[in-house]
Amino acid sequence: MFLNVNEIRKDFPILQREVFGKPLVYLDNAATTQKPVRVIKKIEEVYSTINSNIHRGVHHLSQLATTAHEEARKTVQEYIHAPNSREIIFTRGTTESINLLASSFCRSQCRSGGEIILTAMEHHANIVPWQMQQSQTGIKIRVVPITEKGEIRLEDIEELISSETRLISLTHVSNVLGTINPIKEIIRLAHNYDIPVLIDAAQSVQHLEIDVQDLDCDFLVFSSHKMYGPTGIGVLYGKENLLEKLPPYQGGGEMIAHVSFQKTTFNELPFKFEAGTPDYVGTVALAEAIRYINELGLSDIHHYEKELLRYATTELMKIDGMRIIGQSEKKSPVISFLVKNIHPYDMGMLLDRMGIALRTGHHCAQPLMESLGIEGTLRASFAFYNTKEEIDVLIEGIKKAAKMLE
Ligand code: PLP
Repeated sequence: MFLNVNEIRKDFPILQREVFGKPLVYLDNAATTQKPVRVIKKIEEVYSTINSNIHRGVHHLSQLATTAHEEARKTVQEYIHAPNSREIIFTRGTTESINLLASSFCRSQCRSGGEIILTAMEHHANIVPWQMQQSQTGIKIRVVPITEKGEIRLEDIEELISSETRLISLTHVSNVLGTINPIKEIIRLAHNYDIPVLIDAAQSVQHLEIDVQDLDCDFLVFSSHKMYGPTGIGVLYGKENLLEKLPPYQGGGEMIAHVSFQKTTFNELPFKFEAGTPDYVGTVALAEAIRYINELGLSDIHHYEKELLRYATTELMKIDGMRIIGQSEKKSPVISFLVKNIHPYDMGMLLDRMGIALRTGHHCAQPLMESLGIEGTLRASFAFYNTKEEIDVLIEGIKKAAKMLE
């Protein structure tokens, strides 16, 4: 089966618009993806038909909304092949998921210090929450370097592992380099030393099939808005026995079993980690996005996007002075690049005037930029609704902009 991209594009209303009088060429999918009309309609449908606060009401609407929200949790569970829906915790996004885990994990497992291993290609969301714990708990951060191609090597991770290591936290796919890390092998290595692993799947869950049981990862996090779902919703998956050991992150309604001024007892999983009214409209819309992805098929999506990546890489490399940052054999459809010594921002501005939406800058990965010795890049990131014709527009745009800026 192949994707019918012309038909798929009709599902995304925003792709029909123009920018500065030119057809929009949206190549900023690693920042956020566009939403199919059925996801947008689902939000309207929930507010128009069943809106009511969940879990606490006996009345009909509250029960309908609760059922829809809990069914969404099951849809997420099935999507990542988690054994149990109690292991799916809804958050505001990848960033909040990592903050939750860093706080709960360090408070309970790192009281007398210890080390957290990160890699040099992490997004700030997987750096800063751990740094914030440094001052509270005395943990230390160790950083796995990257190779010239933009890959991490198992032996470099193993060298950093010690009796002090409490957790390894790394991204599945780099949002800058596109590198797909060998997480299964890394998890196996970590487990040989009884070290749990957190996978940041913000850049993989929309492109690759994820099976948390096959990977045997201990924690996995991602954001709805990068997988065609609404903003403001994210997921933290954790193995039940590990989540049980962690203290709550925030306090409030929903997460309690009983409250008195003397003592409060906490609710069971997953509610222990979900204080306050959740975005139950967002969760239902996320489930709709997952159904949409499933109907297209992740395997077909992967093949199509791989071809887009191959075509774009080949065509970009034909441009004079082109430098692609991130040369891993295994890449996701993300290409960071620089042209001669043109500032990425200047080129990004000119491309924008041509209707081409790219991202410029450090992509929330300043330590990575520092290790590469650059300030930033231009980044084109693709989704299954992009086409080779759009890549041709990008190539022509870059050539034109380069001529103007040289
Ligand atoms: N991790 C990676 C690898 C990312 O690319 C991003 C966003 O770009 C994040 C984490 C943060 O995601 P969010 O802003 O949705 O919390």
